[in-house]
Amino acid sequence: MRSRTPDRLCAEAVDLARAAAEELAGAEVVGEHLGAVAEGDRVVTHSFACQDPAYRGWRWAVTVARASRAKVVTLDETALLPDADALLAPEWVPWSERLRPGDLGPGDLLPTEADDLRLEPGWLAAEEAPVDSAVSPVAEDLAELAEAEDADVTATAPAALPTTPARGSLAAVAEELGLRRARVLSRYGLHVAADRWEESYGPKTPMAQAAPAQCVSCGFLVPIAGSLRQAFGICANEFSPADGHVVSLAFGCGGHSEAAVMPRPPRPAPPVLDEMNAEPLPLHPARPSGSVEPEGPTEELGHS
Ligand code: SF4
Repeated sequence: MRSRTPDRLCAEAVDLARAAAEELAGAEVVGEHLGAVAEGDRVVTHSFACQDPAYRGWRWAVTVARASRAKVVTLDETALLPDADALLAPEWVPWSERLRPGDLGPGDLLPTEADDLRLEPGWLAAEEAPVDSAVSPVAEDLAELAEAEDADVTATAPAALPTTPARGSLAAVAEELGLRRARVLSRYGLHVAADRWEESYGPKTPMAQAAPAQCVSCGFLVPIAGSLRQAFGICANEFSPADGHVVSLAFGCGGHSEAAVMPRPPRPAPPVLDEMNAEPLPLHPARPSGSVEPEGPTEELGHS
């Protein structure tokens, strides 16, 4: 238990504490004595101002102690500690939380966690309704999006799910052919991807609001496979801001293939030739008055 009153001998050992701090950091960065506090019975910490400009608001803390019934005070430990107004580094955040879209560079590796909700074992997706089914799983998925955000989408951890596909199922055939992927997008993965794409290239963007027509009727739209084809495609117009991106069918831009007609270039008027009249041209420019006229007849040429 802490003693409120510092031990007298330990409290008087200021020189011992200062010498320890100066030995650790150098005399030039150890400032005035700020006080002493009791850490326990015969254990006292002395504080000295830190003069290092890189550690504004920090202090040197030197703890001294003595044994029971001993008169000699000894050094316990020395440390640099921050005070309330100290300049501190921001709280450390794990890389997985700091990562932002677009951070991945060439050569970088981004591990995907085994229980990533965006993925599920490949054979689960193979058992779902075909992508061209009249009842689109995506349409249902989008309706359930809000619940899926909060719900535990994968009720069972992927590692605990059965690994052997049912005999005769599509997954079993795919496995035999070696075509099966270990994991595919889960419904949750579809939801978040669709949301992201809608946000960037969806009907609510300023570009789509001002567009003359929607992507669904544009010749530059490349259809995609899978259930998302009913809501998205890829823009292949190099002049569009969405070129190469997945766009909502309700998106649109001024580059729509049919919305605007290219104006014809203006044709210059044909030149007018007057072949009926002769236009006299003087051989010499008009001479100033008082100059001597050259001998011989004045010639004039006409040209047509
Ligand atoms: S050019 Fe414009 S309207 Fe056509 S697909 Fe691309 S974004 Fe859509």
